[in-house]
Amino acid sequence: MVNYYNKDLYKILNINFDASSEDIKSSYRKLVRIYHPDVSGNKSNIEKFKEIQEAYEILIDKDKRRKYDVLNGFFSEKIKENFQKTQSEKNIYDETLKRAKDRAEKAEPFSKSINEALDNLFHTKKHPDEKKEKKTPVNGKDIKLDISLTCFEALQGTNRKVNILHTQPCPNCEGRMFINGSICPSCNGTGQISLQKKINVKIPKGVKQGSKVRIKKEGNKGLYGGKDGDLYLVINIEKNQYFEIAGMDIYCNLPVTPYEAALGADIPIKIMNETINIKIPPMTSSGQKLKLAGLGLDNKSKTKKGDIIVTVIIKLPETLSEKEKQLYNQLKDIVNNDIREEMNNGK
Ligand SMILES: [Zn+2]
Repeated sequence: MVNYYNKDLYKILNINFDASSEDIKSSYRKLVRIYHPDVSGNKSNIEKFKEIQEAYEILIDKDKRRKYDVLNGFFSEKIKENFQKTQSEKNIYDETLKRAKDRAEKAEPFSKSINEALDNLFHTKKHPDEKKEKKTPVNGKDIKLDISLTCFEALQGTNRKVNILHTQPCPNCEGRMFINGSICPSCNGTGQISLQKKINVKIPKGVKQGSKVRIKKEGNKGLYGGKDGDLYLVINIEKNQYFEIAGMDIYCNLPVTPYEAALGADIPIKIMNETINIKIPPMTSSGQKLKLAGLGLDNKSKTKKGDIIVTVIIKLPETLSEKEKQLYNQLKDIVNNDIREEMNNGK
């Protein structure tokens, strides 16, 4: 039967009595790298490794550390003086120490882990100072998520359901990785757990290729009062036969019928939740470009606007009716010019 409370946990962790939480963590990590049985490949390290784990788990916990310190007589008169600022604190301290001594004398050799033993020995309230003791806030990290949109969605804006993987400190071990001297079963000793979350996000109209949409506070959770991270949706716009977005400009391939091209037309198109009329002048050929200045996307500071560049594509419907065929035949009979003349004359 091991009498844990007589062990010098500070010595086991190779730290000083006044070591900070950071010192404890840093030293612990170094020791784990040396003594972890999986790392060292040395089975005889198991006991040593367990001892390190237990020492770490007690000293990293402010409450347990204080109990351990009291129990082991680490409280020198000087520390005791600092510890007792008020009469009521002095009373709590004296009472605690007295009870600890009484019970420690009667106590059976410890058969349980030191944590439980210590908890059994002390049923005291938290010292008033501890409430003020705050762990350093750690801000949650941002999460980046790639998202693919059709050109249409990018131009009109859309809503999406996205799955995100949040990581947060393990609630079982509170991120300390160990419980009662063994690896925390909830997080397998990583100190973190991952949570799948489904959220609805709104993607505004007019997002650009490669731009980031920020969803506030949907990143990883902050620790100890630290801020939650943000979620960034990195926009990828799929190409489409009708639209292409390049910077602030929108390129549009506009199908027009042969008669619209010949006679001219006002063609309405839906873009960015608005209907825009595109004026096709008479005698427009396929491939001809029209520029709608200032109707493209905004720059970041909204001080400049891109253009819509329309390329006319003369297109026939999938099928023609008998009546249409007749009319095309009539057209063919009355055609009075040769559009391939230049080509065939070598010009
Ligand atoms: Zn855990």
